Amino acid sequence: LLRIRGVRKQYGSRLVLRSIDLDVAEHQVVCLIGGSGSGKSTLLRCVDLLEVVDDGTIHLGDSELTDPRLDPDTARRRIGIVFQAYNLFPHLSVLDNITLAPRRAHGVPRKRAEEEARELLSRFGLADKAKEHPDRLSGGQQQRAAIARALATRPELLLFDEITSALDPELVGEVLDVVEDLKQGGLTILMATHEMGFARHVADQVCFLENGVIVEQGSAQDVLTAPREQATQRFLARVL
Ligand code: ATP
Ligand code: MG
Repeated sequence: LLRIRGVRKQYGSRLVLRSIDLDVAEHQVVCLIGGSGSGKSTLLRCVDLLEVVDDGTIHLGDSELTDPRLDPDTARRRIGIVFQAYNLFPHLSVLDNITLAPRRAHGVPRKRAEEEARELLSRFGLADKAKEHPDRLSGGQQQRAAIARALATRPELLLFDEITSALDPELVGEVLDVVEDLKQGGLTILMATHEMGFARHVADQVCFLENGVIVEQGSAQDVLTAPREQATQRFLARVL
């Protein structure tokens, strides 16, 4: 579904991604791991066209996202993204947060958008929060609502950037449960995470980045339990 080839990105003279090749097949969960500054967020931002790549191509299905003639807004509608924190619009209710994009960008009538939003909310255990503003929700509830919002436009691909790292430890599980649920439902997810236990349990593929290079990629079992590269071994020794 997603095919990344030879992607390079630099900020000024600083090379942040060097020749990244990565495939995400339909229905797969691929986890990006690696130390701070290794380029995980930058890669996700390139896929969501929030950054322009300096070299290389990114395809989503049959369309080339990196084609300069492509309208980024149209392409972005096929992708849902959730960040570490501050995802929701604070001045809107949870329900309005979720229905905004379907109504504005996809022309879904309000009634149907709200019905679908309420379905998503009950699926994520948030049925009673529809009319609340985000600041009345716990961090875990906010992230679940943010995932619901990303799903409301029925994206083909979901990008999650450290969606649990701003949460208190006891709230991490409820958000990761939602991600696992999405995988069971057949969604395709590319996510940066520090949760190695989760990656081992749920990821079909794990990619370890260091200094903008994918040093090692393979099954979660191979990369996390029996890494071949010393850099991966060192990283895992540090975080596990
Ligand atoms: P973390 O685990 O801390 O989130 P990361 O793997 O997501 O790290 P990135 O955020 O992708 O790392 O950053 C990679 C490098 O790019 C870092 O050295 C960072 O300082 C640099 N960088 C990121 N965004 C910009 C920017 N807008 N301008 C300049 N440099 C940037
Ligand atoms: Mg990051």
